[in-house]
Amino acid sequence: MSNKEIPYKIYLNENEMPKQWYNVRADMKNKPAPLLNAATMKPITFEELRPVFCDELINQELDDVNPYIDIPEEILKFYKMYRPAPLVRAYCLEEKLGTPAKIYYKFEGNNTSGSHKLNSAIAQAYYAKKQGLKGVTTETGAGQWGTALSMACSYFDLDCQVYMVKVSYEQKPFRREVMRTYGAKVTPSPSETTEVGRKILAAHPGTTGSLGCAISEAVEAASLQEGYRYVLGSVLNQVLLHQTVIGLETKTALEKYDISPDIIIGCAGGGSNLGGLISPFMGEKLRGEKDYRIIAVEPASCPSLTRGKYVYDYCDTGMVCPLSKMYTLGSGFIPSANHAGGLRYHGMSSTLSQLYDDGLMEAVAVEQTSVFEAAQYFARIEGILPAPESSHAIKVAIDEAKKCKETGEEKTIVFGLTGTGYFDMMSYQKFNDGVMSDYIPTDEELQAGFAGLPNVEA
Ligand SMILES: *Cc1c(COP(=O)(O)O)cnc(C)c1O
Repeated sequence: MSNKEIPYKIYLNENEMPKQWYNVRADMKNKPAPLLNAATMKPITFEELRPVFCDELINQELDDVNPYIDIPEEILKFYKMYRPAPLVRAYCLEEKLGTPAKIYYKFEGNNTSGSHKLNSAIAQAYYAKKQGLKGVTTETGAGQWGTALSMACSYFDLDCQVYMVKVSYEQKPFRREVMRTYGAKVTPSPSETTEVGRKILAAHPGTTGSLGCAISEAVEAASLQEGYRYVLGSVLNQVLLHQTVIGLETKTALEKYDISPDIIIGCAGGGSNLGGLISPFMGEKLRGEKDYRIIAVEPASCPSLTRGKYVYDYCDTGMVCPLSKMYTLGSGFIPSANHAGGLRYHGMSSTLSQLYDDGLMEAVAVEQTSVFEAAQYFARIEGILPAPESSHAIKVAIDEAKKCKETGEEKTIVFGLTGTGYFDMMSYQKFNDGVMSDYIPTDEELQAGFAGLPNVEA
């Protein structure tokens, strides 16, 4: 451990920012399973993906050999407007907890979209523009991804069409207006504007939608318009790749002060922020250079890693996307109304799924009232109002720091603080009013989701 005095915030200079993304798949002995074409059940090819995704992004999606991929100059330029993100030493939190643990968090909420999602949105918009496309379609749940993509598309002058899960569209009008301010067209999903939307509405009248439904609609919308492609804000390998700027910056900042973390913690929805944060550290672990405890935190109401199955599943409710082998609750699983909208996805990144299956990382599920208790505690001590998603990581970081207090161990804990909670005040209101509930699905309910899993020979 170093004797250097560690500041509250470790910033990097612009020239210390990463110039390449790190592709952890290159160092994995057991590669994540390939995406399957839903029609043939064979590994999907570049050509088969071309009608849906941008060419360069498909290359990144399928690349599991090249460890480093150059970040194009135009993207670096955009990154410099809001990065590097600070790595904060949570001195005040440590003091309040009375823990010997040293706690750091990487804060990704310092941009208008309020989360890490902009790191991938700008990359995806760039490759779409470079390919000469007119626009992109996407889904958004709580709205963070849609907001980030709207910002990225307006920067590169691309059309942006967002299918927003209906319940969020109605409950988060301000998110919607941010997107519209950046020029995006926002449609509540399921909608009458797509065939799959009409089908879902007929089968589930009055449904308030889900991420899986909105994905199906966005994919269909892209395929029906000339010069449009579909882009996704999480789950995919390409997204995880772009998010490695988080982990690379974190690692450089820690190394400036000779700090080596013992525990790295992040929330996991589709797995992109966690994957991005841990990738460079996981790389060292995979190459046998170092060891770290890595913990994924998910909501108890949507426990894909802790209670899901590691099998091939559809990525969307309408079953129009390729199949991915992942920890999943089944594409038909609709989680209870948890307030961490960004963590309500039924599946998980195939890369993280494989790493978890290989025992290289752990996962814990936490209940939402305990998450909001941690959020409130953190806000009052460290000043930042955290997003409910991010607060899952806060909760477990605090738990680990408390354990250190009991044992007297001076562990170094790093966690990802993915975003701010300004648009989540309805959830905070429920918590403040004492009417927030916890819901943990029963085994029978999970069984219903598993019953809809496709039968794929391994
Ligand atoms: C989307 C989101 C998440 C979860 O998505 P991942 O792909 O799992 O990272 C977490 N936190 C915030 C603030 C988000 O917007």
